Amino acid sequence: MALIVQKYGGTSVGGLNRIRRVAQKVKTLAEAGNQVVVVLSAMAGETDRLLRLAQEVHPDPDERELDVLLATGEQQSVALFCIASHAVGLDAHSLLGFQAGLLTNHRYGKARIELVDALRVHELLDQGKVVVVAGFQGVDEDTGDLTTLGRGGSDTTAVAMAAALKADVCEIYTDVEGVFTTDPNIVPEARKLERISYEEMLEMASLGAKVLDIRSVEFAAKFGVRIHVRSTFTDREGTMVVPEEQIKEQLIISGVAYNKNEARITIKGVPDQPGVARKVFTPISNAGIVVDVIIQNTSVDGTTDLTFTVPKTDYKKAMGLLSTVCSEIGAKEVLGDPNIAKVSIIGIGMRNHAGVASKMFGALADEGINIQTINTSEIKVSCVIDEKYTELAVRALHKAFGLAEGLEPAAEDI
Ligand code: ADP
Ligand code: ASP
Ligand code: MG
Repeated sequence: MALIVQKYGGTSVGGLNRIRRVAQKVKTLAEAGNQVVVVLSAMAGETDRLLRLAQEVHPDPDERELDVLLATGEQQSVALFCIASHAVGLDAHSLLGFQAGLLTNHRYGKARIELVDALRVHELLDQGKVVVVAGFQGVDEDTGDLTTLGRGGSDTTAVAMAAALKADVCEIYTDVEGVFTTDPNIVPEARKLERISYEEMLEMASLGAKVLDIRSVEFAAKFGVRIHVRSTFTDREGTMVVPEEQIKEQLIISGVAYNKNEARITIKGVPDQPGVARKVFTPISNAGIVVDVIIQNTSVDGTTDLTFTVPKTDYKKAMGLLSTVCSEIGAKEVLGDPNIAKVSIIGIGMRNHAGVASKMFGALADEGINIQTINTSEIKVSCVIDEKYTELAVRALHKAFGLAEGLEPAAEDI
């Protein structure tokens, strides 16, 4: 007997027939003698619909009330799923985040899970029930307020639950067959990876591959949770996310990712003095805005330019805060561009190979795509480009690195 956590995403439960089909799938697993915890997302499009409703009544909805509203999406799917399960003779029992012991901090809209108190889930499993947990939501451990974990957060609920229960595996069921070399909806030739390391998956997720929420990968790596990403609609094996030692053959580049959800901000003419960067970024971080890709050049004539990206959803807020900061520190002006995209190549093999970045720049140049900023780490290279070239850039990079074939160009070619 195994203890299995299964998470089904929005498209997997995006209609009553799909919910029935998933209930049947879970029934087969439970009847084979396994203990099963199911984590569900809201039905496809529901979270967006709720967001639009809130924005219709207020341009900047209160964050606490927004979480109360958004949490209803997952509440609907767990209840409907259990009702559908009962119709096929499966003893399923729904739990909302707070009932399942998902305790978080107080950051509405992007709360972090602090603790999972899985007592009730264990009790229900011991009674022979299938436990169906609402993804994406928790409860502030201090105030008792409802919180949500950020878009895509049901993956994190599932992995946190799997870690707390010491589950044998956490299966993430979605609308693609696993983790691919890039988004298969953009590049049909993308290749499914049999295995990917936590580290590469962490980079892929943080660089925009939404197949797994980044925090779910962080949890998995920390607690050694085995993740199996696979399709709800086929029985084929998907991708296992595993420690680096378990990767058999290491390619130089394992994937290409893109992110259209960021905006670029440049502060021009920043005085080159100690403490200025702190003055710029403290109000931003106090507002809970996560900054990425910070670039500062050496100063010319005692001033420099500071460029960074923020999530598009925080762009207006950041621009507002920075116009005040800009005058305080005596900078020249703040420029912003929300129509950008970040394209990235990721691969652990990059550590030992030269020339990967220049090959990337060449592939973009051959398509006439201008690079606005460049950012590298040990296992990734990211370029910010004009948003309208995203798909073209992703296809060009996928091709340049021969990812469809799984063949890496010989080291001397790159
Ligand atoms: P769910 O609703 O099941 O959580 P998501 O839409 O959040 O599903 O994530 C699955 C989607 O992730 C796929 O439909 C695909 O478009 C996208 N995706 C982006 N990059 C990748 C990748 N490298 N491999 C697989 N899917 C990817
Ligand atoms: N329903 C939430 C969203 O659409 C959480 C999730 O699906 O993971 O982002
Ligand atoms: Mg998702």
